Amino acid sequence: MKIENALKEIYGKVYTGKEIKLLYSYDATGQAGEPEWVFFPENEEQVRKTVEVALEEKMPVIARGAGTGQSGGSLPVHGGVVMVFTRMKRIEVLERDMVCVVEPGAITGRIKKEVEKYGLYYPPDPASFEFSTIGGNVAEDAGGPRAVKYGVTSSFVLGLEWVDGTGKLYRWGGRNIKDVSGYPVHKLLCGSEGTLGIITKIYLKLIPLPPERDAVLLRFSTPEEAGEAVLEIMRMGISPSSLEYLSEKASSLIGLSGNYLMVELEGGEEVEEGIRKIRERFGGEEAGIWEKRKKLSPLLYRLAPIKINEDVVLPRSQLPEFLRFLSQLEKESGVHVVAFGHIGDGNLHTNVMCEKRETGERVVVRIMEEVVRRGGSISGEHGVGIRKKAFFRLQYGESERELMRRIKKVFDPEGILNPGKIWD
Ligand SMILES: Cc1cc2nc3c(=O)[nH]c(=O)nc-3n(C[C@H](O)[C@H](O)[C@H](O)COP(=O)(O)OP(=O)(O)OC[C@H]3O[C@@H](n4cnc5c(N)ncnc54)[C@H](O)[C@@H]3O)c2cc1C
Repeated sequence: MKIENALKEIYGKVYTGKEIKLLYSYDATGQAGEPEWVFFPENEEQVRKTVEVALEEKMPVIARGAGTGQSGGSLPVHGGVVMVFTRMKRIEVLERDMVCVVEPGAITGRIKKEVEKYGLYYPPDPASFEFSTIGGNVAEDAGGPRAVKYGVTSSFVLGLEWVDGTGKLYRWGGRNIKDVSGYPVHKLLCGSEGTLGIITKIYLKLIPLPPERDAVLLRFSTPEEAGEAVLEIMRMGISPSSLEYLSEKASSLIGLSGNYLMVELEGGEEVEEGIRKIRERFGGEEAGIWEKRKKLSPLLYRLAPIKINEDVVLPRSQLPEFLRFLSQLEKESGVHVVAFGHIGDGNLHTNVMCEKRETGERVVVRIMEEVVRRGGSISGEHGVGIRKKAFFRLQYGESERELMRRIKKVFDPEGILNPGKIWD
């Protein structure tokens, strides 16, 4: 009762209904965890006070944006308070600074649209940008097709405000494009999956909106050839804004046949010249058909009822061999391994489609081991959350994990911020 009264004082109202708890028990993974309380903060003071109350009760606090996470980051796996940020969604464009100041609940697609009114551009484009929040994007350090040219979300984060696990508010960075005074602590929050702080404000760098965009589709008979072409394209001096891959099996689902690369260029007059260079070297066809790629994810279920989707990253030099490994693995294991994704930055979605989860999980272990053996990473976009905890040890040794745990303790001494994520 004491806690209920304290929370009521902060929010004026306490939601305790079964329906609301159920609504915020899930994310895009389909896995679940039930919260004890759900709140919709409207300002940083409410966030701060909620953390203070939770700290007193040693109760978990989980930040939630739109719940589109693919690794279970927003799931209250140990109960506690879920703070849903959909009401903190202000967007302010500082046109002359080419900076956008946003609250964490702003939908990324809305930010993109808003800055375009000023002829400005916020490039990060996770495929979920029409419905995911910028807070979730920062906490996952989300990427997308255009990361190959511009970088992931953190490349655009100039400053952050956040509340740590003791209820203290921090302001770091801001409108300056450069700042090397002291540790860039705000950068640690990017990709921290809600385990180091609750983000309440974000300063985003903007660039001029590129006037031109064009794309070309290239077909290859083997995955290795496509992988080799990636290395060549990245050295052609044309700076692709997207360089995406579709394996033969993936392309067959949308009515194509072969291994494909989609090369997109953005910019000014150089776009036409870049497309000409690519066509001269590789041939290629109109990329209009690439629109069909958006329909691919649901079509995967034609292959098998269970999908295990990973988002591994490899050094580019390893791509041809790794793609060969995936083809071999598919033959040996008898399950479908469908690869596609942001191959330009070495980031591939490996979709294991299987009849039985255990069989699929075994194939995923082989993929992860191969990725790490080749110097890659278990996640390029979706984070570790609860889904990839088992593989974290493959990538990081004891000293590195220990350092991360110590950092966590500094930000969140009692371990109340999003417990059960990244590690136990
Ligand atoms: C169809 C689809 C396509 C996708 N495509 C991509 C893609 O191309 N690239 C990519 O990177 N991801 C992609 N994702 C994954 C997902 O959309 C991203 O991870 C996104 O950044 C999550 O945003 P969200 O608002 O849904 O966050 P949520 O799922 O609600 O939360 C994600 C994490 O962020 C934390 N968090 C949320 N808000 C805050 C805050 N204010 N302070 C601190 N922590 C916070 C949560 O605790 C959780 O750990 C896709 C997902 C779907 C369903």
